[in-house]
Amino acid sequence: MLAHRLVLENFRNYTAQELEFCPGVNIIYGDNAQGKTNILEAVYLFSMGKGFRAKKDAELVQHGREEARAALTFSDAGRDWEAEIRLFRSRRKAISVNEVPIRLTSELIGRFRVIYFGPEYLGLIKEGPRQRRRNTDILISQLRPRYFSALSDVKKIIDSKNALLKMERPNKAMLEILNEKLASISGELIAWRSQYIQKLNQYAAALQNEISGGSETLSMEYLSCIGAADGLSAEEITQKLRQRLENVERRELENRETAVGPHREDIAYLINGREAKSFASQGQQKTIVLSQKLSEVALMREETGEAPVLLLDDIMSELDRKRQSFVLSHIRDMQIFITCTDTEGFALREDTRLLKVENG
Ligand code: ATP
Ligand code: MG
Repeated sequence: MLAHRLVLENFRNYTAQELEFCPGVNIIYGDNAQGKTNILEAVYLFSMGKGFRAKKDAELVQHGREEARAALTFSDAGRDWEAEIRLFRSRRKAISVNEVPIRLTSELIGRFRVIYFGPEYLGLIKEGPRQRRRNTDILISQLRPRYFSALSDVKKIIDSKNALLKMERPNKAMLEILNEKLASISGELIAWRSQYIQKLNQYAAALQNEISGGSETLSMEYLSCIGAADGLSAEEITQKLRQRLENVERRELENRETAVGPHREDIAYLINGREAKSFASQGQQKTIVLSQKLSEVALMREETGEAPVLLLDDIMSELDRKRQSFVLSHIRDMQIFITCTDTEGFALREDTRLLKVENG
């Protein structure tokens, strides 16, 4: 996967900008608040159809403008693509690929695959489960188009169910219908999450071991509301979830909230058998997140036959020399974007392009 050329119009602090990238390491450097992260966000936009910081498309549109445009030419397995995204302040975005309009964001996801690693990920281990689920969801969505649709279906069902539970006297028949929908769609979703966490775990364990010089064993586990989901089929998970939903029905009616489902699950990280959330040091946590992100890269490469584009926002400054050079030497044969305030200090590889950013 290679991003070749990015064109921005009225996108955040860029009024009109064209950028060409190299297939190796692209280092985007400059002072604070100049627009480095904005470039990564624009590249990322083509993978998930939205920015990694922006809650709303309108935030991506330059202040005082009505409309922004971003266009990216990229290639996947030697085939060239041109995608264009037009963002509006007050209506839905318009996406096209090779000049053919795309109606749903779900049809964009999976074409241009990236792994994004920014400073907010450094809290992945300690923060709440939402971040960990979100990270997993972004990864699997890019690999399985159906996953993203299933995820939005589940969200809608849970919203409807919560609304129903908040009513004065919730209709039991309606509740049963929603529970059945929830169980049947979630089976596949939970099965995928559990499978991908297992696959990631294999890579992450090896990486953690290597980075820590053999002293740390990492294991990851998907914690489902049905108990151990490893090795179960989607149908088996659905069956167990039906049972769980029946069991918690009284509690849900009392608390007026959906108590079990994919929106309440988590991923556990263990270092040498102990839960990282409670016991890992800051440095160990960084190593875990680094192992996790590099595992995602390896997994994507394995699943699709193509390496994703890696976006590292302000990460190098968070890593010590040893880990910095581990990243640069470990990640070969793929395109990387790195933002930093100065390039001094890290060993530049021969396949590097430097892009200096000043006031957009
Ligand atoms: P740092 O080194 O601090 O991370 P950065 O170079 O990554 O800085 P960005 O986050 O890319 O900086 O860009 C921030 C700049 O973009 C800020 O000056 C901000 O005001 C501006 N900006 C963000 N959104 C918009 C927008 N919608 N319209 C205009 N300017 C914007
Ligand atoms: Mg930044």
